[in-house]
Amino acid sequence: MKKVLITGAAGFLGSHLCDRFIKEGFHVIAMDNLITGDLKNIEHLFKLENFEYYHHDVTKFVHVPGDLDYILHFASPASPIDYLKIPIQTLKVGALGTHNLLGLAKEKNARILIASTSEIYGDPLVHPQTEEYYGNVNTIGPRGVYDEAKRFQESITMAYHRFHGVETRIVRIFNTYGPRMRLNDGRVIPAFMGQALRGEDLTVFGDGSQTRSFCYVDDEVEGIYRLLMSDYSNPVNIGNPHEITISDFAEEIIKLTGTDQKVIYKDLPQDDPMQRQPDISKAKSILGWEPKVGREEGMRKTFEYFKSLSQEDLLKTEHRDFADRNKN
Ligand code: UDP
Repeated sequence: MKKVLITGAAGFLGSHLCDRFIKEGFHVIAMDNLITGDLKNIEHLFKLENFEYYHHDVTKFVHVPGDLDYILHFASPASPIDYLKIPIQTLKVGALGTHNLLGLAKEKNARILIASTSEIYGDPLVHPQTEEYYGNVNTIGPRGVYDEAKRFQESITMAYHRFHGVETRIVRIFNTYGPRMRLNDGRVIPAFMGQALRGEDLTVFGDGSQTRSFCYVDDEVEGIYRLLMSDYSNPVNIGNPHEITISDFAEEIIKLTGTDQKVIYKDLPQDDPMQRQPDISKAKSILGWEPKVGREEGMRKTFEYFKSLSQEDLLKTEHRDFADRNKN
């Protein structure tokens, strides 16, 4: 049985990856320190023989006994509100954590896939974003702790690949959504859906003309799986190229949820990217991958998930106002 270590396993993407690798017949070693993850996301796996969980902070030396075939490094805070709350941990997990996991990959002769992000393109001046674009990033802004950690992560990964011959893969993940997103992580989808369910107005930041392109989690996981199994070591964008403005998206959510609330406008957070859309030509040609789930279907499934949460969870999660805490 092949063994895979997944860091950030109790998070949104990490937990879906655990499910996928279990389904593919792997022995899954899940690792998390639960700063932003939640054991609820993986508790259904604890009864399985081919699943184990280590509570560990990967910025400290990482030890796993026995053989290891693959490592997926998905541990990181991943929302602007988290970067503000835990900036040092965000930098450390991208930098020190990645270093430890690359060392482990070298030691075990394992193939390692690193979760990078569209954030390495910053507020992009090239549209859509191809893998060749170098980005437009503010090193000292509120998002800098994430963006620069992820850029460093890509550099050290390529250095281990070139210098030590470690088999490495780099996925650049664009906005991804689905069940198990954290209700209070401040991202736009849990924010809007939580607001609709609590009967609050939907808060659009700025004038809502900024764009995003949202990928359903099952599509994202399929792309990541294919990249891991491929022999391509340069970065690959995995995301859904269907782009929408945030104000049009708010209208879609109002229709989907049937809420009678309205849209209200708040200040745009500093360095909020104005546009974001992946160019996925590489994923198509190298991995034969493209997303299959449309926004309507994906958002419906995601809303079902948020609706299934307890009233208590919903109410204790007051939407934090990022714009007010981080004025331009
Ligand atoms: N956004 C918004 N209202 C909210 C939360 C977010 O208008 O309550 C906007 C945010 O300013 C950004 C977009 O939605 O332009 C996506 O934000 P998110 O935090 O989900 O992800 P990211 O900015 O990292 O793509």
